[in-house]
Amino acid sequence: MIQTPRFRTPVRKAVGVLATLTALGALLVACNGQKAEDQKAEDQKAGNNGSINVYTSRHYDADTHIYEAFEKETGIKVNRLEMQAAQLVERMKAEGASSPADVILMADAGALWKAQDAGLYQPLQSDVINAKIPANLREPSGQWFGFSRRARVIIYDKAKVKPEEVATYEALATPRFKGKICVRSSDNVYNLSLMAAVIEHLGPEKALEWAKGVTANMARDPQGGDRDQIKAVAAGICEVAISNTYYYLRMTHNADELDQAVVDKTAMAFPSLAGQGTHVNISGGGLAKHAPNRDNAVKFLEYMTNDASQTIFAKYNNEFPVITTSETPEHIKALDGFKADPVNVLTYGTRQAEAQKLLDQAGWK
Ligand code: FE
Repeated sequence: MIQTPRFRTPVRKAVGVLATLTALGALLVACNGQKAEDQKAEDQKAGNNGSINVYTSRHYDADTHIYEAFEKETGIKVNRLEMQAAQLVERMKAEGASSPADVILMADAGALWKAQDAGLYQPLQSDVINAKIPANLREPSGQWFGFSRRARVIIYDKAKVKPEEVATYEALATPRFKGKICVRSSDNVYNLSLMAAVIEHLGPEKALEWAKGVTANMARDPQGGDRDQIKAVAAGICEVAISNTYYYLRMTHNADELDQAVVDKTAMAFPSLAGQGTHVNISGGGLAKHAPNRDNAVKFLEYMTNDASQTIFAKYNNEFPVITTSETPEHIKALDGFKADPVNVLTYGTRQAEAQKLLDQAGWK
């Protein structure tokens, strides 16, 4: 279905890992009492225009390209510390007011909200960000905002499923898909956010019924990540899988023969939830509460919304940009006409706990 030039998402390079380790070392020093002034002195010595410390749970190579572009353009050095979202929250809580973190980056509004719940941001009302990012993709008080979008969609077996059968999320709970669904576990934040949206639109009772229906239709116990569900469809283990769009688009846009075999057998549907449109989540970021390099951090967060960054999210991670640019790859542009659920993504955060409770109740492992 996608006929545009193919490119390979760059694999994580040893250099990238080294850079992360170096940044980690620098940050550890900072945590052990190195003052912001010391960092300033180091920057002066190195000829940097200051620096920022980015705590991120995003595991995508696209971000490295953005850090490099930002450093080149502004002269501000980016120290990156990468870890899982839950670890990031625990670490910042432990660091407290002496945290060297300037910027927090995370995938999924549910994860961004958990950092908010722990009081890790300071509100930021940036004219640049507010003008560029639609209100439903921002936390209203300025705690965090989305800079790229990903839909949570249905990948289906083209030979066995008609597109109209996967036009809604509700269909997944019907007897049509008895023993035909592959999906990852219920403690995954992507699923929790989807369930939060189902609760928001259908109410808790119907949402529970939906989750019970999906669970009863599973082809196997939840296991693996989104890519594994897609592969299971191609392998005939199930007829439909729930996945984020970029995992599938990565498969369609690389030269890997195994991925191509998967893509040949499958297609992607953008289902609607309660007639509102497809469930869309974000990657995003916010300003850390005790940011020692606040001004540079604001510059960095605003940089995420410029054309160069928006292009990189689409080009290297197959995410939908918030702002389409002239350089946005054609295969992303071509798919971006889908009707998206307009609900504010903050809902996915505030309903996380309720979502987990109902998924547990439904028996979704
Ligand atoms: Fe992911």
